[in-house]
Amino acid sequence: MTLVAKRLVSIILGNNRPHTCTAKARLIASLLFMLVLASISGCQPEPVKQAYSGFTMGTSYHVTVFNRDLDAAIPADLGEQLQQCLNALDQVFSTYKPDSEISRINAAEPGQPLSISPDMAKVLRLSHEIYTATGGAFNPAVGPLVDLWGFGPQAEPETLPEPAAIAEKLKQVDFSHLAIDQTQQTVTKHNLLRIDLSAVAKGYAVDQLADLLKAHGITHYLVEVGGELRLSGLNAQNQPWRIGVERPSLERSDAQKVIALTNMALATSGDYRNYIERDGVRYSHTIDPRTGQPIRNRLASVTVITSDAATADALATAFMVMGEQATLTYANQQNIAVYLIVKEGEGFREVQNAYFEHINKIKQNTE
Ligand code: AMP
Ligand code: MG
Repeated sequence: MTLVAKRLVSIILGNNRPHTCTAKARLIASLLFMLVLASISGCQPEPVKQAYSGFTMGTSYHVTVFNRDLDAAIPADLGEQLQQCLNALDQVFSTYKPDSEISRINAAEPGQPLSISPDMAKVLRLSHEIYTATGGAFNPAVGPLVDLWGFGPQAEPETLPEPAAIAEKLKQVDFSHLAIDQTQQTVTKHNLLRIDLSAVAKGYAVDQLADLLKAHGITHYLVEVGGELRLSGLNAQNQPWRIGVERPSLERSDAQKVIALTNMALATSGDYRNYIERDGVRYSHTIDPRTGQPIRNRLASVTVITSDAATADALATAFMVMGEQATLTYANQQNIAVYLIVKEGEGFREVQNAYFEHINKIKQNTE
């Protein structure tokens, strides 16, 4: 996993604050900005809230839970359980750790079947589906190009990659050269292929944390890893959770759009936080696998709402590659809710499809 994950959303909080001091200090340091709404008084007793936060996968995470409808108490060691789950996933998906599972696959010689963990098998299965469905816009085999452009574990290059080097790496980015045997839980590389699952692993981690909470009977929660989110039940004010999609600006950190949501996942990809700059030109960390170049379209950010965060995460990255029109065509055909911020002149234009409006209207109406 690359260490440049920066979130493009904010969580609009209720009246309770995270309870741990260290977590609080880290929160202040993090890029997440939080708008604290005035508390809304209600007749019901206040539900008990617990909040957990920390670092994983080169980014931060935040989990908020309420004990509403919960027969038993929230487990005292829930925070440790969440962190352990994330540590285990980082050990599977981190391209920064030489001994991670993904690094082991990347270092292996082609032709040898390698056994993989259930988490790796699940993420590869989903990745293959989305790779096919998006015509290769989402492509985990893009790893060599991510590294070439300086978005991987290696230091950023002083100069831009030469066209010949890009052409050479492009020969290695065919994801179909990774044979995945779901029954045997093995993968076999049929070429010198290097995978990078950074565009989906944070979303997958969100889903795994949500599953852990559900296993404890917790149904009111917000889980966020590096800006990818999953929301269930209601927030402190007995309302759907409120998420701010960030205005695409480095100077200001405020919400361009507030989305009220529950029982859904939301992921945002954008080109204005993670980039390298050479001679005044910004190069995005999202690579177009067809050209080997960082994307150059007018999308500043893409927000996707689906039922699981891994799918939303992978699709948000794919849509950044596909651009506005292809994204809208795909999303409308597949009934996927999307909200796009598109660069126009010196400013921005917002585009949301009918399915996004539908979802947002339903959730707003429950307030
Ligand atoms: P995200 O922030 O979820 O959009 O993921 C971006 C990260 O995914 C980048 O930093 C790369 O590590 C990786 N990546 C870049 N381009 C692609 C692509 N076209 N398909 C899949 N992963 C990509
Ligand atoms: Mg993504």
